Amino acid sequence: MTSLEDIIKNLDENKAREVIINFFSSEPKIAFRESKRILCIQPHADDTDVAAGGTIAKLAKEGKEIIYVTMTDDRLGTFNPELWPEKLAKIRYLEQKEAAKILGVKKLIWLNYRDSELLPNLEIRNRLIHIIRRLRPDIIMTVDPWLTYEAHPDHRYTGILACEAALFSAFPHACPEDLREGIKPHSVRFIAFYWSRKPNVYIDITDYMDIKLRAIQAHKSQFSDNWETFEQILRAYSCFLGKRIGVKYAEAFKIVKPSHLHCNVFTEDL
Ligand code: ZN
Repeated sequence: MTSLEDIIKNLDENKAREVIINFFSSEPKIAFRESKRILCIQPHADDTDVAAGGTIAKLAKEGKEIIYVTMTDDRLGTFNPELWPEKLAKIRYLEQKEAAKILGVKKLIWLNYRDSELLPNLEIRNRLIHIIRRLRPDIIMTVDPWLTYEAHPDHRYTGILACEAALFSAFPHACPEDLREGIKPHSVRFIAFYWSRKPNVYIDITDYMDIKLRAIQAHKSQFSDNWETFEQILRAYSCFLGKRIGVKYAEAFKIVKPSHLHCNVFTEDL
């Protein structure tokens, strides 16, 4: 069998780099097609729907099982000082349930950390490892924690915690209480990041744009006041991404394998 070294040894550096990147990217490119169960770990109710709702609706229609884990309770999402955070958290819970029904998401899990106060720690990582081992997803979809200029801690740390959990859920002695309870380690095949600066997979959502918009509108507390502007931006952004693959509307992901998230200098460019 020809080794990767054999292939690159006589190439110039740029060509060699291209071959190595193609080598690491070949499986991620077919990740959605190859997967049956997708676990979406999102900072807040609405993040997955806004960033990836078209893809979620499409995958659900294809018969894939989609599960959402929402990290926080969404109590801060208002500029109205008279709307109590506890009440808003309940409203947002119901809105996410409604949006999930529209998109075909079957199961919702809430971890209920306080909105804007998520900090990475071992307890949260272990909760996610436990969920991953119980549900055994092929793909974890989450927010890209390395998005430049992302100031929201819930977004940065959700992405980081999801990556850590995806990395360690395969190791039997990580989160060892699972082993004692008979819950088996699980190797996640792929991690799909949305809101990524360097996407490597584009999904044609032209036929799913309307359903995506309907699902986002179900988050009434977030989008009813500014819907027209928001819809315009969303359509323009999806249209912009669509140009990259020659379709009307697209969503974009950076998809990698968990093994790419440790000591791999090429991952940024995959
Ligand atoms: Zn968010």
